[in-house]
Amino acid sequence: MTELTQYVYAFDKANEPIARAKDGDEFSFRTLDCYSGQVCTEEDIVGESFNFSRTNPATGPLYVEGAMPGDVLVVDVLSVEVADKGAVTTIPNIGPLYDRCVDRTRILPVKDGKTELGGLIIPINPMIGVIGTAPAGEDVIDGFVGSHGGNMDNKLITKGTRLYLPVRVPGALLQMGDVHAAMGDGELCGTGIEIPAEITVKVQLVKNFELHWPVLETHDKWYVNANAPKYDEALMNGSKELQRLLMNVTGWDPVETYMYMSIQSDVEISQGCEPCEVQLSLRIGTPKLPQFAPLVPRP
Ligand code: CA
Ligand code: CA
Repeated sequence: MTELTQYVYAFDKANEPIARAKDGDEFSFRTLDCYSGQVCTEEDIVGESFNFSRTNPATGPLYVEGAMPGDVLVVDVLSVEVADKGAVTTIPNIGPLYDRCVDRTRILPVKDGKTELGGLIIPINPMIGVIGTAPAGEDVIDGFVGSHGGNMDNKLITKGTRLYLPVRVPGALLQMGDVHAAMGDGELCGTGIEIPAEITVKVQLVKNFELHWPVLETHDKWYVNANAPKYDEALMNGSKELQRLLMNVTGWDPVETYMYMSIQSDVEISQGCEPCEVQLSLRIGTPKLPQFAPLVPRP
């Protein structure tokens, strides 16, 4: 299996692919932590002198042969193997309690699926913070989220999850990084346990399917991922897409579908720590309905 190790700092159609995949191929992406290795000890503080232009490196991009705008790239996350230690840090002006804290770095050990903080043993939940395809227009830095994916910080993007990403440029240009050994929804202080990792994925294509936002499939649910600077806009984006996808397969009218969503779908905040409503990343989950076709066709 090919292992990928080129790092880029934006989702950009001009990024030179580091490898080419065929439909059904598996690849390993070796990822740096979100600090590009600038934080190695507890003396390495993410403060005024930190180089923020070198944050959130993504590994890639991978060119998927045959992927064209209007297709969907299907990414099965086969494994997320994390290093044996990671760093959680506070970040200036990030998170609701920043003005009540100081700049601090904690290096946390990771062993046998567990870490330790404050004298407590805590189970890890390795997940991929940044993953997506290249947008058709302007480049988007890896630290931002959008309808191409990017910094979704969705803790359900983990081993066993299938991700459906809109293809906007030939080859799709898949890249990923910002793995967390553990993170809670919302990521209150702005970091999880930021950690280098090796992610193994399988890529497949669904040709010609209209998809406006990334969709995630777990063993029992579908999730639409959406974002916007403000909560109400993000909620609107995700709700519209889920309603459209549900109506496609059920044949229900818009109001019936809306009511169904209200009683069966859960709105969950993935990333909500940014100040001044810079970006709000959420997911809307809905149970799988075996009576109907899948919300996004399977490859
Ligand atoms: Ca992130
Ligand atoms: Ca992160």
